[in-house]
Amino acid sequence: MKASPADQRRLIEVAELDARIRQADHARRNPPQAGRVHELLARRQELGQELATRLGSRDDLRIELSRIESDVAVVDARAARDAERLAASSNPKEAQGLESELASLARRKSDLEDAELEVMERLELAEAAAAEQEVLIAQTNAEGSELSAAAKRTVAEASAAFDAATRDRAAVSGTVPADLLALYERIAARSAGAAYLRARTCEGCNMVLAGTDLQVLRQAADDDIVTCPECGCILVRGEDSGL
Ligand SMILES: [Zn+2]
Repeated sequence: MKASPADQRRLIEVAELDARIRQADHARRNPPQAGRVHELLARRQELGQELATRLGSRDDLRIELSRIESDVAVVDARAARDAERLAASSNPKEAQGLESELASLARRKSDLEDAELEVMERLELAEAAAAEQEVLIAQTNAEGSELSAAAKRTVAEASAAFDAATRDRAAVSGTVPADLLALYERIAARSAGAAYLRARTCEGCNMVLAGTDLQVLRQAADDDIVTCPECGCILVRGEDSGL
């Protein structure tokens, strides 16, 4: 097949646009933030489970504390009633019984207050542990939404670049003869498609050509289509090709 040097040069533009399209397509499908966002989602899940456990412990302690408080109220009510009866009693035996019950109620109350203090301390720790976990979750969420927003921007930019390169590619390839473009596309499926030969170096694969390979190129006419013996892409020649 023959093609004018100008048409051949246009293939390089097409090849560059194809490379840009591939790059933008890859970038819009794989934003660099995606891996970390994925990690953060998994971390968020773990942190959430741990938070549920910590909130459960905290709630158990709250229940325990209110149970102790109501026990204290019962003891107080009973002691108040006993004290009233004692004050009104004129029976020494009854008074003795009431005094002994009041003493045992006082011991019971003291035990309950010790237990109450201990539960309050544990509750304070449990509340701090839950709050600490909530802070970690908030940090994870903040980092996640920041990265998601950045990923969305990256995808939007890459999509815009993809669309622009696709439009340019359509415009440039529209000026290339159909049979030449078809040949380029077959070759582009397994190489750069078309590349410039600069100083005996194929810019598609960066191999330096020598010997008989160069001889073949030197003998070819300007409108002959020649390919790189290394990568198979269409080699576009010009003044600085070193031939
Ligand atoms: Zn090559």
